[in-house]
Amino acid sequence: MRLITMYKRVGEAKLELYGCPIGCRFCAHKSREKRDVPLDQVIKFFSEYETKRVFIGGAEPAMQKRELLELMKALRKRGKEITLKTVGTDPAFLKDTLGLVHRYIIEVRAPLDDVEAIRRMTSLDEDAAKAHLADLKNSLEVLKGQKVRSMTRVLPTIIDPERMERMGQQLEGYVEEAQLIQFMSGGNDVPFEGSDRPSPPLERMEELGEIMLRHVPVVLLQGDGIDATMKR
Ligand code: SF4
Repeated sequence: MRLITMYKRVGEAKLELYGCPIGCRFCAHKSREKRDVPLDQVIKFFSEYETKRVFIGGAEPAMQKRELLELMKALRKRGKEITLKTVGTDPAFLKDTLGLVHRYIIEVRAPLDDVEAIRRMTSLDEDAAKAHLADLKNSLEVLKGQKVRSMTRVLPTIIDPERMERMGQQLEGYVEEAQLIQFMSGGNDVPFEGSDRPSPPLERMEELGEIMLRHVPVVLLQGDGIDATMKR
């Protein structure tokens, strides 16, 4: 398998897979080094671990779906609880994971009909941006009724209250939690459209969180000095 990293610590085991077809301009994963590790070694690495929960994410895990399905089946047999993070590029793959995954995290970067925002964030042309948004919508349909958290990087130059309201309306009924992450607050972003430090500020994050909370029962705000759970 092509990995960015895999590790296990007390209470946590994580697999980050390499490669994503979206190519966001602000994504730090693109510059990470790739490691090739045979599937049987990955299975052994996590099987020998006592902690039940395994997080699988990275860039986009669906790009290695054949091996990933084998891995998830092996881990389920060993009683592991899997959290799968996805960008929503492959609804058919997500359908195949039903019953194997305990919780999904789906990356939603902008409103589901906002081709312009996706084009600003990525190098996708108009047709590819439309196709990506259609895949993302279909992925949410496939996962309806599952434990799903949406994850949004709050890009200060793009994610404004109007866009957050549209996202909330579109995610209502599909996700049980929405995680809003302040841009540049972790190690996963590179500067974008002039933003090169953690932003927007806490007040704006809270305003956007309140908007999302009208539609989703739980909103998680995270960032530099920000770690709050908002509930209805
Ligand atoms: S931010 Fe997410 S969707 Fe964008 S390139 Fe990185 S992994 Fe892919």
